[in-house]
Amino acid sequence: MKTLAFIHRNDTRFAVGDFSPVLSVFSHYELGNTISPFLLLDHIGPGHLAPLSTKKGVDEHPHRGFETVTIVYKGEVEHKDSKGGGGIIRGGDVQWMTAAAGITHREFFSEEFRKQGGDFEMIQLWVNLPARDKLSAPHYQSLTSEQIPVVELPDDMGSVRVIAGQFDGESGPAKTHTRINILDVRMKAGQSTVFPTEAGDTAIVYLLSGQLQFDTENMDAAGMAVMGNQNADIEVKTLADSRFLVLSGEPINEPFFGRGPFIMNTFEEILEAFEDFKNGKLG
Ligand code: MN
Repeated sequence: MKTLAFIHRNDTRFAVGDFSPVLSVFSHYELGNTISPFLLLDHIGPGHLAPLSTKKGVDEHPHRGFETVTIVYKGEVEHKDSKGGGGIIRGGDVQWMTAAAGITHREFFSEEFRKQGGDFEMIQLWVNLPARDKLSAPHYQSLTSEQIPVVELPDDMGSVRVIAGQFDGESGPAKTHTRINILDVRMKAGQSTVFPTEAGDTAIVYLLSGQLQFDTENMDAAGMAVMGNQNADIEVKTLADSRFLVLSGEPINEPFFGRGPFIMNTFEEILEAFEDFKNGKLG
């Protein structure tokens, strides 16, 4: 079984565009390649939107060299990109956007949702691409909640949605460039479950709500447990009813350089990305 390496926690809330509050759970600026291939995790909300007549979200911006994965729990996000991809991501849905060579997009609350108002909660995860795929063609996977298998845990202790990779014989619908597991878990208090990962894999657990225990350490909501990369499998124990993400996968053992919306391998490639964006080559 993997052991806990450390608990990472940020308490600073900020706004992304005018989505707020957003908790920056971690970014590559803090953790570098420590939890490769994962680069960044933002927790948007939970919050409540009062009915609004104007657009709210993030206006047109570029990405290159990686993938953005948006998991919507509550509320609705409308997405439109320069390659013609787009649609409405509703509660339970996941959008997997491979920016690769470059894309520009907008992310707003859907018109219907902002007119009605309501509760919202979302996650955005950034996943790195290996150098060989960084300049491949961009694409977009819309994973609706009906496509995401749900595994019921024994003794009515909770459930696991398999977004990517495998759990208990079920496969997630996401097509990934490297081996990745993304499990969206709910578990009642006082339970324990083992999530399989391979030895050498990165493995992290982000707690949206509740309380977990790793070895002798307790972790409160908004904490992220980073497991050591030796040994296989992660054991998660719940001290309260909990909702959490288990992210694991094979690390990409390549240096990277990231600035703003671009994640490449070298500083020169970042300058090139800014130049290409300025010249309208990213969308
Ligand atoms: Mn974006």
